[in-house]
Amino acid sequence: ARRRAGDGDASDVVLDGLWRRLGDVQALAGMSLTVPAGTLVALLGPSGCGKTTALRVLAGLEDLDAGAVRVAGRDVSHVPAHRRDNAMVFQAFSLMPHMTAGENVAFALELRGVPRRARAAIVDEHLELVGLGSHRDRYAHQLSGGQQQRVALARALAVRPSVLLLDEPLSALDAKVRVSLRDEIRRIQSQTGITTLFVTHDQEEALVVADQVAVMRAGAVVQVDTPRGLYQRPRDEFVATFIGATNRVRALASDGIALVEGWGPVPLLPGSAQGEVTLLVRPEHVRVGAADSRDARVADVTFLGTHAQVRVALPGRLDVVAQLRVDDAASLRPGDAVGLTFDTVPALAVERSAADGVDVR
Ligand code: ATP
Repeated sequence: ARRRAGDGDASDVVLDGLWRRLGDVQALAGMSLTVPAGTLVALLGPSGCGKTTALRVLAGLEDLDAGAVRVAGRDVSHVPAHRRDNAMVFQAFSLMPHMTAGENVAFALELRGVPRRARAAIVDEHLELVGLGSHRDRYAHQLSGGQQQRVALARALAVRPSVLLLDEPLSALDAKVRVSLRDEIRRIQSQTGITTLFVTHDQEEALVVADQVAVMRAGAVVQVDTPRGLYQRPRDEFVATFIGATNRVRALASDGIALVEGWGPVPLLPGSAQGEVTLLVRPEHVRVGAADSRDARVADVTFLGTHAQVRVALPGRLDVVAQLRVDDAASLRPGDAVGLTFDTVPALAVERSAADGVDVR
């Protein structure tokens, strides 16, 4: 079984209270994170929150003002990058264009002092691993973007680093390639068991690929949990709205039930806050049924392929967005009177600064 952050183990990667100022920006402000050995942790957050800086500090490419980086129990904070035993895959275009796929991988091995006669077998093994066994002799510029990233991944893995660092490796690729390579990264990481930190600003990518997701804001980690844990029990509204769509609404909660005027009672997940709360109602937790006395009406229905999104207007309230199966939404038309019911949802203590809202991408 995979271990979770906080179990503590000598072979983990530990970022311990990292501080780093860049110009007049506090890029890292006490950031801490443990990547348990053998797992893939995604570092997720909005642009500018410090993800790349954290990765660069871990790689030894960026200095620290305070804090420590430990890998396998060893403090590497002041070890130069080339002696840290990391391998990195960048956003894109990092291959040597005048070298073939095989030569690109072999070159990385040469730099690490792997003897020439041992290289060919390692090159072939790793190009196979990324599904490019038959592309060894193609030049980098003859490969698609997705294939180039596969070669970059093969090159990173071939040197058998103790830590694999992926900095938005998929964001320069088009949607279909991105999804297939994302699944490949998941497979390859599980197969090789290499400890991996994966930086992304794409929440779906993070949820799909990672054992655990660390959500960052303003230079610090806000929450670390499994994808399911983060989705179901975000610790605050920032995490809730960053991980997937959600309806947010103020309510009064007691005895496991929240009351929202115009909505009817909403059952709460155990552990939810009491009193004045913010309900986090995911669109898939809203049921749209037969009309009741509350005068809810369909505002619009959007077909999204695998499901339909239905926006329901309630008098004097913000709209509620529901996600329905396409079949269940087929008969709904704007203006139809409907009734809303809700699955069990989490409630957070109210943040004074936040307002009700619907955050649906
Ligand atoms: P993105 O997803 O946009 O790459 P990020 O989360 O990776 O963002 P960083 O690249 O780590 O964020 O940057 C953190 C902050 O530090 C940002 O506000 C950025 O503008 C700032 N920053 C980064 N590099 C420098 C630099 N060399 N000088 C000054 N400020 C910098």
